[in-house]
Amino acid sequence: MANDKKSLVVVESHAKTKTINAFLGEEFTVLSSGGHVVDLPKSKLGVDVGNGFQPQYLLIRGRGKVVKQLRNAAAKAAEVILATDPDREGEAIAWHLAEILKKNNPRISRITFNEITRGAVLRALENPRPIDLNLVEAQKARRVMDRLVGYQVSPILWRTVCTGLSAGRVQSVALRLICEREEEIEAFVPQEYWLIDGTFQGRRTEPFQARLIKVANEKPAIPNEQAATTLVEDIRQQEWFVKDIRKSKVQRHPPPPFTTSTLQQDAARRFGFSTSMIMVIAQQLYEGVKLGGEGPQGLITYMRTDSVRVADEAIEAVRSFIASNYGLEYLPSEPRRFKSRAGAQEAHEAIRPTAVSRTPRSLRKYLTQEQFLLYELIWQRFVASQMAPAQLLQTAVDIVSGNDELYLFRAHGSEVLFRGFLQAYEETPREDDEQEEAPTTKVPENLSVGEKLVLLEVSPSQHFTKPPPRYTESSLVKTLDALGIGRPSTYAVIVSTILERNYVEKRDRRLVPTELGRTVNKILVANFPDIFTVKFTARMEAELDEIEAGKRPFLEVMERFYRPFQRALEAAEGKQLQIRDSLQEKTDEHCPVCGKELVIRWGRHGRFIACADYPRCRFSKSMEQEEVAVDEKCEQCGSPMVVKNSRFGRFLACSAYPKCKNARPYKIGIKCPKPGCDGDVVERRTRRGRTFYGCSRYPECDFVSWQEPVLGPCPSCGNKLLYKRYTKVKGTTLHCPECGQEFAQELATSPSTIHNE
Ligand SMILES: [Zn+2]
Ligand SMILES: [Zn+2]
Ligand SMILES: [Zn+2]
Ligand SMILES: [Zn+2]
Repeated sequence: MANDKKSLVVVESHAKTKTINAFLGEEFTVLSSGGHVVDLPKSKLGVDVGNGFQPQYLLIRGRGKVVKQLRNAAAKAAEVILATDPDREGEAIAWHLAEILKKNNPRISRITFNEITRGAVLRALENPRPIDLNLVEAQKARRVMDRLVGYQVSPILWRTVCTGLSAGRVQSVALRLICEREEEIEAFVPQEYWLIDGTFQGRRTEPFQARLIKVANEKPAIPNEQAATTLVEDIRQQEWFVKDIRKSKVQRHPPPPFTTSTLQQDAARRFGFSTSMIMVIAQQLYEGVKLGGEGPQGLITYMRTDSVRVADEAIEAVRSFIASNYGLEYLPSEPRRFKSRAGAQEAHEAIRPTAVSRTPRSLRKYLTQEQFLLYELIWQRFVASQMAPAQLLQTAVDIVSGNDELYLFRAHGSEVLFRGFLQAYEETPREDDEQEEAPTTKVPENLSVGEKLVLLEVSPSQHFTKPPPRYTESSLVKTLDALGIGRPSTYAVIVSTILERNYVEKRDRRLVPTELGRTVNKILVANFPDIFTVKFTARMEAELDEIEAGKRPFLEVMERFYRPFQRALEAAEGKQLQIRDSLQEKTDEHCPVCGKELVIRWGRHGRFIACADYPRCRFSKSMEQEEVAVDEKCEQCGSPMVVKNSRFGRFLACSAYPKCKNARPYKIGIKCPKPGCDGDVVERRTRRGRTFYGCSRYPECDFVSWQEPVLGPCPSCGNKLLYKRYTKVKGTTLHCPECGQEFAQELATSPSTIHNE
């Protein structure tokens, strides 16, 4: 067809424009829309709730120039081809562009490709299709739901806590998970238990380790040192025999190639990258990296996906790569097909390299360090996914005592017979899988059943049950994925939003709720008990998927969402004063202007003291943080540390706050009284605000006391440690845990309770 007019291809990013330009000939012009061009207005709700929840989309400020450029190009073009990303957002951008550009050129079609390579782009051009309105409707429903929650719930937070806060449909549920985990940790009471390991030796063997797993056919409960010592003494008296040796061959299969969620989990664990950074780097690899003399090349497939499907050509390519680079024994006879979880977008693919022949090493010089690490990880996981399973030989040896077999020890051994896929990729251990299992040792070869063994050594060890760990970005994404409340396009946004809002902070990679985050969560959970729940949110996400699949109309889903939401909203609106009062903490002070009580309120910059009669009386002052200087330096920045008071007790904080956020528990100046522990007694407060005293070595040490320990000596027995006791009748007294005596506070002088170290 002779036509000197060019075709206009529109993508959404500049980097993608450059990559695609190089694949297409003279007859194409490629332009970028720079993402969405229209959106809901910032200044108002922009959703006509009474009229089918229709959004009022406006041109985004500052995008006028781009739109004008696209219109001019469309008017001159033979046709318009919309090539935005292959998902809901991309489809919505395409639809909005089509609505704008159809006046300038009615010949509009849509193409998609999972990878930005010459082959994929040319194939897509041969298969144009109309815009998929189901995807557009699903995006619209998500946008409208998020807007309704954000714009209608946030004002309740402004009026009760402080202006500028925000609630979000999904991130508030993530915040709730983090706050609830924190409550579990605070409520956790560690239990002491002991384990007993033995070192055995056979006639012809090296010494090896085994663990006591049964006493009189029961799992032994060893609650304390005394019980452990008694057992150890008896164990030392016994004779030992090999009762059983079991060997089994085990196959370990490789994990499927990455989805967005598993990529974020693995890369966050391995490299410590934040989930948003992982997405930024993955997008660079997807959109194209310039490789030497070649033009830019898309190095990985689309990075927002929940599918583990792999295109047939890619499977063929990786199989021949494995055969020639690892050897035929590493190639299973059949390609491995992985099952995506139900509801996953099967049109999508897993995240994989676009050309497996581009080994990480061959690309190293063209990539930044972060790009290299991520590409290598994606490449290795993909190659491994089509390799043979690893073969392991597992051995278990049971060792029993004497004739009665009262005690049973077990040794575990695991040996790799064939590395298989491990040659390409090894999973990082989950940071939260506590290894309390018996250690695997090398179990000697030449042991035989019935053989007598010598017990060389018995070692008891003290342990404490541990509270559930705080979430990391990695484990939070895993949880959101498993609970069905995140999607490939949202995990990273959820995590970065709650961090940016200062609802959560990161300490040692762990997500810890701030006081503000806990307050916001408390209000949302109390007032929207059925909305900010995992169940409701997961159901809404599933219904959005159903719109996308054409199984449910937009309006029905919106109504199923809005009715319960509106009811909760109305109830919460009516309770605003009550919410505000419930948040107000009283002080002992009175207003110098009107004499009413002073209370603690939340403000834009944290908490402050104000008159309870606000707004009639406008008196307020800043919270007098009694910042007592102590003779300690911050180990992170060198500034002096100060003692601060918070709702959660006294603590030591860096005086350079907020530049440095270092903080430590407040030591009351007494060593932990537990024998053998070199920790310090620190002041803590329960969630309800009750002060208690614990050990700085928690959770290794479980010392805890409601009463404040003070330095003695006891006037009656000389014991060094005393406890403060308060009763209404006697006031504050001291009592001795050794002799039980109680006496007035003045009798024991304890200047050391004030200074900190
Ligand atoms: Zn007042
Ligand atoms: Zn500091
Ligand atoms: Zn201790
Ligand atoms: Zn005493």
